[in-house]
Amino acid sequence: MSDASIEALGKLVLDYAEERLKLDPVPLDYTLTSDQLFDRVGNTITEDGLGGDRAMDIFAEVLAPACLSIDHPRYLSFVPCAPSEAAAMFDLVVGASSIYAGSWLEGSGAVFAENQALRWIADLVGLPREAGGVFVPGGTIGNLSALVAARHRARRTAADGARPFRIAATTGAHSSIKSACDVMDAEFVGVEADERGRLTGPALEAVLREHGPESFIAVVATAGTTNFGIIDDLTGVAEVCERYGLWFHVDGAYGGAALAAPSVRHLFAGVERADSFIVDPHKWLFAPFDCCALLYRSPADARAAHTQKASYLDVLTEAPEWNPTDYSVGLTRRARGLPLWFSLATNGSKAYTAAVERTLEVARFAIEEIRSRPYLELAHDPQLSVVVFRRLGWSAEDYRRWSDHLLEMETAFVVPTSHDGETLARFAIVNPQTTEDDIRTILDTMA
Ligand SMILES: *Cc1c(COP(=O)(O)O)cnc(C)c1O
Repeated sequence: MSDASIEALGKLVLDYAEERLKLDPVPLDYTLTSDQLFDRVGNTITEDGLGGDRAMDIFAEVLAPACLSIDHPRYLSFVPCAPSEAAAMFDLVVGASSIYAGSWLEGSGAVFAENQALRWIADLVGLPREAGGVFVPGGTIGNLSALVAARHRARRTAADGARPFRIAATTGAHSSIKSACDVMDAEFVGVEADERGRLTGPALEAVLREHGPESFIAVVATAGTTNFGIIDDLTGVAEVCERYGLWFHVDGAYGGAALAAPSVRHLFAGVERADSFIVDPHKWLFAPFDCCALLYRSPADARAAHTQKASYLDVLTEAPEWNPTDYSVGLTRRARGLPLWFSLATNGSKAYTAAVERTLEVARFAIEEIRSRPYLELAHDPQLSVVVFRRLGWSAEDYRRWSDHLLEMETAFVVPTSHDGETLARFAIVNPQTTEDDIRTILDTMA
């Protein structure tokens, strides 16, 4: 492209990005069918190309509005993502910079910065100086990579070449743990949770004894379950893992962000004993998709498990430097930790503490509102920013209709969840732009 063309297209793209980031509030938008989209744009891949103006137009007018704005303040389904402006803007820079962030040789500057962001997280967790890791696409790959490293160590240290194949976790663990077990051909062993929904030391120990502790690869504790925000008894679980020499993995994909919030930090006691830990900055740490921080207490174990060996990679794998790609499943990687790094460097860590605390404040407001309204009832005692509650007298169909209507009106996106066969309403509050008024507005629609 000529300089003039780059300038013209650059203006289109950057103006669009700037406008999108300035929208307040962003539109919630909607979902279309494939037929509806085809009717509106036809076939966009042509021999001669549409040109940047037309392609950008199609995106702005048709495609983008057919994507829900995950950062809408009343998007409270699943776990939303509300990137800081600095993080979102820096994603453009990462895309423009052609950085290969798999190896130190090729991406030293980016890897250095990513490692400082990882260190900030490792300090929140309380991991030792030698801890380290890598930013991977999401919690699913983070959990899988950690468990593959755990398996490598378990099989290396097992007596007479035994091959440990079990992984223990509560049934409240995220679906990605079972998925990792499937990928690894490992057996998921569900441990019964206590009355507060937590994995505890005694229940874990009973299950380990029943199956034989030597048959286990690892134990997974969740620090903030997806459905309820429950934090397992990390100290109790850590003690049992130490007693039996088992790898202790902590899945903080959603909840780990709350380590930055002094008001709830005590709930995570014991997390500092983890052998591996994940948190998704694309959930509650204001980074754009896709970004999961994966950390190891002793990275050498992970390196031994994950380094790909091939003659064409020798120049990288034989080097002593930190190659991020050696710590997870996957080889080629973009510098996906840089948007988080830029935002942290720009705003400072205190802004992160304040933003997480703000979401917790709004969650506490939601809890009080639910308690004060006679037609609503909390389904659990929320610890973090996930609030699950019931509308007395509603059937599953009532919840579904209410939720569909909210989206149709572009008022809010709040899908129901279920627990023990009961349909329930659920808020996941991770967006500092979500206000008390937003909560009140949604709860009013349930009266
Ligand atoms: C979201 C989540 C995951 C999976 O993370 P992805 O980034 O969606 O792959 C894993 N564990 C927990 C607890 C989660 O909330």
